[in-house]
This record gives sequence, structure tokens and C-alpha cells, in this order.
Amino acid sequence: MKRIGLLTLIATICLALGLMVSPTPVVAKTIFVTIGTGGITGVYYPTGGAIARIVNKKRKEYGIRCTVESTGGSVFNVNAVMAGDLEFGVVQSDRQYQAINGMAEWKEKGPQKDLRAVFTIHPESITLVAADDAGIKSIKDLKGKRVNIGNPGSGQRQNSIDALENAGINYETDLTAEGVKAAEAPGLLQDGRIDAFFYTVGHPSGAIKEATAGRRKVHFVPITGVDKLLQKYPYYAKAVIPIKLYPGATNTEDVETFGVKATLITSAKVPDLVVYAVTKEVFDNFESFKKLHPAYEVLTKQNMLEGMSAPIHPGAMKYYKESGLDKYIPVMH
Ligand code: GLU
Repeated sequence: MKRIGLLTLIATICLALGLMVSPTPVVAKTIFVTIGTGGITGVYYPTGGAIARIVNKKRKEYGIRCTVESTGGSVFNVNAVMAGDLEFGVVQSDRQYQAINGMAEWKEKGPQKDLRAVFTIHPESITLVAADDAGIKSIKDLKGKRVNIGNPGSGQRQNSIDALENAGINYETDLTAEGVKAAEAPGLLQDGRIDAFFYTVGHPSGAIKEATAGRRKVHFVPITGVDKLLQKYPYYAKAVIPIKLYPGATNTEDVETFGVKATLITSAKVPDLVVYAVTKEVFDNFESFKKLHPAYEVLTKQNMLEGMSAPIHPGAMKYYKESGLDKYIPVMH
């Protein structure tokens, strides 16, 4: 006992001396960061995966361990990042705009002041898929039909409502609106439980492949006559769905519609070091990143800096300045 006591005393003294020599013991502490995405058959989920993969390659250097979470989509992601439950979120550009300005779902809560932009990613189009046997040739034909407009946490729900209103359709009274997650919609369409669904998504997407590859034949419905809508909302732009991506769809031509962009957001409360690392790794490994999903084919470093409406996080800005990419950042009005 006595001996052990002495050893303990010596050990304690050594430890104390050691601490005095090196006042900050180097303990490798892992920083865990999570990216909120969307349904697993969308493009957000593999996007989160692509970012995490690139960042995790430098795990030893940064001490950052990045993971991905499947969520209800853009609105959920903004709220989870603002609550500090997630560090990053993939969010539609229109939703970023609404959240920072206190509009739509954030009208009552007010502007989400801590919201910060990191970069923008692939284009997403407002995609309307309908069963061939339901007699839906134009968006106006949705009257009286059963249509999934999107779950409440999703980005697409408001896009569906905007598209319907623009076509003179009240989603509450003129049709039966369902609010299920996009990942469930293809199955419901194939089972004959809905006639059509909206999904704001990049192409190609697993959910749309699933919807167009079943026994019930389906097609994309063009959404045209949107000039007024585009004038009213600065975040919408015309878009086209390339039909070659979905050989199972019965369309014969590319489909006109309108769209937004996927963006990566974070909070002002997330440390600069973390946001810097994520930004640097994606841009420094841009060519490998682009290969991780076919929806990234159109990406350039320049267009990944276009379409942000929240202030850019200082950690991301540090990278843009040191790499000279800051010259591509459009001046915000
Ligand atoms: N745009 C959808 C949303 O914000 C998600 C699309 C996807 O997961 O690729 O909810």
C-alpha cells in the first residue's frame, strides 16, 4: 500500500511537471459535423455523401468527421441548422432567400439572421410526373386529381403551390393534395393511389427513375406560361428536364419547366475552421467532386458562387479570398 502510495505521488508530480512544460496537452479531439439532406432517392442525400467523403479524406489534418442525415428536405434543414441540431444543410436557393428574409414558412418567426451561405450546387427543376392513364397533359388538368405536392419540411411544397396558383388552381379546393415525402410518391403513383406528384429535384434522381420504370406508364408534364411567376419571384428561372435521363418516361421531347438551385447553408455559430475546411476541400478537389454525381455535370467553380442570398460564412469567404475565387461572387443587392 505504502509503495503504491509513493508511486502515485511520483506519478502525480511527473504529470504536474509535464503539464507545466506543456501547458496545452495535445489531445486529438474530433469535431463531428452533420449535413442535413433529403430523401435517400433524391440528389441531396448523395450530395451530402459526396461532400462528406471529400472532407473525411482529410480527417487527420482537420480532425473533422463529417456525416450525413436523410431528412424531410430544405425547410427542415434550415430549421435544424438554425436550432444547432445540424451544422450544414442542403437547401433550395428559393428557401435560402425566404429564410433570410423571413418569408413563407419563416413569416411568423422572422428573418433567420444566423443563416449563412457556403456555396451553391446543382440545378433543380420543378418536376411534375403524371400517370399516362390519368389524362393529365397540362398542369391545368390537375384539377380534381389526387396530387402529391410534398411534405411540410420539403422545399418543393411551396414550388408546387406556386406552380398550381400560377395555373389558376387552388391546391386546397381544386384538387386532393397529398403531403407525403418525395421518396414515397413513386410507389403511390405506381400503386394507383395518386395521379401525379411534384418533386423539386436535380436530374437524374433515383425517385424519378423509380417512378418512370414501373408498370404504370408515366410522363413529365411541362410547366409553361410562367413568365409572370418568374417576374414576381427573383429566385425562379426557366429549366428543362432532359428526357434522355429517363428512358422509361413516355415523353418524346425534353420537358420545359422552371427551377431553382441546391445550395449549402450553415449557421453563423459554426466555427470558421469547419466551414473553411468544407469549402476548401470541395473546391480544391473540384474535378473529383464533379464526378460524384451526374447532376454536377454543369457545375463550374464560378456558378457555384451564384445564387446565394444569405451572407457568406466567414470561413467560406476566407477560402474564396485566398484562392482568388471571390471575384466571381455576384454583388448582393
Ligand atoms: N429539393 C428538395 C427539398 O428541398 C430535395 C431534393 C433532393 O433531395 O434532391 O426538399
